[in-house]
Amino acid sequence: MPVYVVGHKIPDSDSICGAIALAHLKNQIGEESVATRLGDVSPETAFILEKFGFDAPELKLSYAGEEVYIVDHSELTQAPDDIAEATIVGIVDHHKLGDLTTSTPLECWIRPVGCSNTVIKMMYDFYNVEIPKNIAGIMLCAILSDTVIFKSPTCTTADIKCVEALAEIAGIEDFKELGMDMFKVKSAVEGTPARDLVMRDFKDFNMNGELVGIGQLEVIDLSVFDDIKAELEADIAALKAEGNRHSVLLLLTDIMKEGSQMLIASDDLAKIEAAFACQSEDNKVWLDGVLSRKKQVVPPLQGVFA
Ligand code: MG
Ligand code: MG
Ligand code: MG
Repeated sequence: MPVYVVGHKIPDSDSICGAIALAHLKNQIGEESVATRLGDVSPETAFILEKFGFDAPELKLSYAGEEVYIVDHSELTQAPDDIAEATIVGIVDHHKLGDLTTSTPLECWIRPVGCSNTVIKMMYDFYNVEIPKNIAGIMLCAILSDTVIFKSPTCTTADIKCVEALAEIAGIEDFKELGMDMFKVKSAVEGTPARDLVMRDFKDFNMNGELVGIGQLEVIDLSVFDDIKAELEADIAALKAEGNRHSVLLLLTDIMKEGSQMLIASDDLAKIEAAFACQSEDNKVWLDGVLSRKKQVVPPLQGVFA
């Protein structure tokens, strides 16, 4: 029976590329593994997989009775629905420790770096397994995506060194250009329904018993949202009501200006404003320097919900 290697719901490039890279490593060291996914791949991830010649991992939603290696999260809300009926054999992650628990011992590779794929590179080095060229390529792209081409405050020296080493293996001379190509793919939002955009990189968090959903769209220029902002605002309000959420926030991140406009739908606007010490206007606020949901958005929110 193989171990299924799976990232979080609404998979991003780190979850998909990480599952492929980790499953390959595990197979090389004699542990039969299969990469899977919990949802559709994003246009960015599709771009990466096509560029390096991979198919998307198998879509698999149920893991009851199976062994699972968790990638890029440790939160119940982001894990398979029936994870309690599975055996978690390992976790590789770079987020705050979440609320997944196990009844058996497990392997944990959790480091405060910019991307799970940086940790997976450390695992390859630990096991002394060579990284194939095409796997090095997808790992590198995942790190450039998660670290916003090294601009995110989550980016560490380890991430940069890792990208340099992977670029060498993959034979990529200008990895920053490749990173910009990825963010250009991400910026092509025209013609996409508002709900699809809101859900493209969306995570629910349990904040002291209240459900808070936070989406993020990272683009090269916020003007791409000019014609659809009203629709996005209406949609996050609808999503809040549908899911019985306390709040839904949508971060429109400008990776060149290095900040985010946050759209807010909340039962308690003052609480959200207090978290960021800001004054919103029409349920919107510009947060200068804010690029990272994990490091700059979730922690202050948890502070006010505590
Ligand atoms: Mg992720
Ligand atoms: Mg990640
Ligand atoms: Mg991200």
